[in-house]
Amino acid sequence: MDLEALRTPTRFLQSAGISLPSEWELEKLENWWETEGKAISAMIDRMGTPWLRAFDRFGRRVDEILYPPDYRRMLLQGYRAGAVWHALEGAGLPAAFLIGYLTAFYDAGLYCPYTVSLATALALHKYGDPGLQARFLPPLLRRDDEVWQGATWMTEVGGGSDLGATVETIARPEGPRWRLTGEKYFASNVGADLALVAARPEGAPRTVRGLALFLVPRYREDGSLNYTIRRLKDKIGTRAVPTGEAELRDTEAYLLGSVEEGIYLILEVLNVSRVANSIASVALMQRAMAEALAFAERRVAFGRPILQHPLLRRQFEERWQGLQAAFALAWMTVQMLETIRMERPPYSPRYHLFRLLTHLAKYWTAEQAVQTAKWAMEVHGGMGVLGEYPVERWLREAMILPIWEGTPHRQILDGLEVIARKGSHQALLELLSPKADPQALEEMAERVEALLRLPPEEQEARAEPLFRDLARFVAETLSRHSVPGID
Ligand SMILES: Cc1cc2nc3c(=O)[nH]c(=O)nc-3n(C[C@H](O)[C@H](O)[C@H](O)COP(=O)(O)OP(=O)(O)OC[C@H]3O[C@@H](n4cnc5c(N)ncnc54)[C@H](O)[C@@H]3O)c2cc1C
Repeated sequence: MDLEALRTPTRFLQSAGISLPSEWELEKLENWWETEGKAISAMIDRMGTPWLRAFDRFGRRVDEILYPPDYRRMLLQGYRAGAVWHALEGAGLPAAFLIGYLTAFYDAGLYCPYTVSLATALALHKYGDPGLQARFLPPLLRRDDEVWQGATWMTEVGGGSDLGATVETIARPEGPRWRLTGEKYFASNVGADLALVAARPEGAPRTVRGLALFLVPRYREDGSLNYTIRRLKDKIGTRAVPTGEAELRDTEAYLLGSVEEGIYLILEVLNVSRVANSIASVALMQRAMAEALAFAERRVAFGRPILQHPLLRRQFEERWQGLQAAFALAWMTVQMLETIRMERPPYSPRYHLFRLLTHLAKYWTAEQAVQTAKWAMEVHGGMGVLGEYPVERWLREAMILPIWEGTPHRQILDGLEVIARKGSHQALLELLSPKADPQALEEMAERVEALLRLPPEEQEARAEPLFRDLARFVAETLSRHSVPGID
């Protein structure tokens, strides 16, 4: 157990065998967080919901989101370091995710703007026509303070799980563009310069196949506001990202890809966020453990620091192993995403394997983050529940991780679908076979096949224990072996 590795994100990444793309840059970013960022982040969290100024004093809509000036300074750190540009113009996607890991260690909510901006850039790069790319990609990839931000808005008031039934936003073609009318109920990074928006072309069926993906700029070509913000949400955590309700009224929009393939594009966007969510979850686990360690080393009970008591020591050891396993699983999804990200439908078996791993990782790491944050509070005893110290916050932040980007139910059911329809568990078990205990591997294979023999309703009802055990099995198997670097 290398508890020293818990103290900072770069130390943990190095201990996990990751070769950092630009060690100096990451360490510089970490140093900024330690000296300035932590205090700004704590202040933003304690202040609560940012403020929406909807009108200027002449009564014109402006829809500005107001944070203290330090917020913008904090936000720009990750964009400058390459949370987006690294993916397309730097050391690749893993480098962007490392910046995400580092950010989420200090502020899990702040990783959201980088994630949705990255997802916007990737979708535009892959599916935008050359004109759209020339116009909108360069500002998203800027390395200075003028960088643009992206967003991904799918969910409407009727619910986020069943998008095929609940998306009411209508898209009407108008020359080379489209016009969107509808409302997005959970719009994170609201105020973004560009948003990816799910909408239903007029007359399309009320199923997921009737949805298409559009690019929506904040301003129309004539310079007026292209969407308005009805209000901001008051959330228990992730206060470093404004989440609001976005109103689209004849909003100018540009189709990405084709209408027929829209749902695949939407799922690709969601999967990028799920990978990032897994990385954020692991970073939050590390942060909670780092806080627990710092307290347990100095808090004395029964004559010695509580860290030296066997029961607590054992818990640290187990959590350390859990952290490594969760990281190995999350990092595997990052590496696979890099290899399949330019695939288009119909996808290869490797793409479906990525999907399965992503559902397992999103489900498992988010749950581990919640449990670890809860445990870190327990280690602090009564001090853990006080708002003054940086412990209760990690539980509030962690509680959002299982819910956004698809709840645990969604991950289990979508994971089950890729197993049943694409047989992706076979590729997964093959991937693990050189490293796994053969008997455990066989037992796992048998459990999956037994589930698949059940009638569909029964399959769903019984899916969770298997999915949970499969996720743990994959994570633990992967963590027993060094994680390849990104050189
Ligand atoms: C802080 C925050 C920020 C967000 N930001 C964004 C954003 O930027 N863009 C965006 O598009 N969305 C965003 N969301 C929305 C998020 O993606 C949804 O909350 C999520 O997808 C779940 O949808 P829902 O909340 O409408 O729950 P519902 O879909 O109404 O589901 C309610 C419950 O029913 C369960 N359920 C649904 N179907 C089944 C089933 N078949 N079997 C078993 N259980 C089922 C769900 O798992 C859930 O527990 C955000 C959410 C939060 C909390």
